[in-house]
Amino acid sequence: MIEITDVVKAYPLGEGEVVAADRLSLSIGAGEFVAVVGRSGSGKTTLLNLLAGIDRPSAGTVRVSGTDLGALSESALAEWRGRNVGLVFQFFQLLPTLTVAENVMLPMDFAAAIPAVRRRDRALELLDRVGIGDQAGKLPSTLSGGQQQRAAIARALANDPPLLLADEPTGNLDSHTAGAVLDVFAGLNAEGRTIVVVSHERDIRSVVDREIVLVDGRVVADEGVTA
Ligand code: ADP
Ligand code: MG
Repeated sequence: MIEITDVVKAYPLGEGEVVAADRLSLSIGAGEFVAVVGRSGSGKTTLLNLLAGIDRPSAGTVRVSGTDLGALSESALAEWRGRNVGLVFQFFQLLPTLTVAENVMLPMDFAAAIPAVRRRDRALELLDRVGIGDQAGKLPSTLSGGQQQRAAIARALANDPPLLLADEPTGNLDSHTAGAVLDVFAGLNAEGRTIVVVSHERDIRSVVDREIVLVDGRVVADEGVTA
């Protein structure tokens, strides 16, 4: 499903540059649940942003389900992302003035892949799916951190993307809540969704199938993990 080939991502820094992805090559199959780990600055977010088409490689190719992301225009890329990728962030990034259900409906409104008359019901179903159906009409600020992250996961599922990408989704949660959120991802993976999650949690190894370790923008280990 994902094919990254000889990808370099360099950012200018002073007179030189920072190489955040250094000839990265890896492939991830449909249905895999993969953790990307490594120290701060090792290139984890860069890798996710390349997969999401948020960043473009300086060299090399990123293919997702056969689409060469580097070949798409900005607007085509935004449309592709809206339909094919669900993104989850450390700080949830829910819009504070919209209810939880409205936050989940927003990507449906942008992508227009789900018929307008279905969107509210679908949002409620997704919120049920992640265990917070009873919070649908509330504002995000009235929810706990774990509930907000569940809402963000429901939002990521809005357009039924085959690929979920999560950047330190448990980084702002206590360990008990973090475990419960990782269980939500595990359930989604069990239903067949491909998930790539960046994590600092030691616990991540107990839920994923595979762990990729980055150091200085390179893969230094890539191995299957068994719970
Ligand atoms: P991680 O998520 O593992 O902490 P990042 O992918 O965010 O790592 O960053 C990898 C390297 O690239 C770091 O040295 C970081 O400072 C640099 N970097 C990331 N984004 C930018 C940017 N937009 N401009 C300049 N340097 C960046
Ligand atoms: Mg990061």
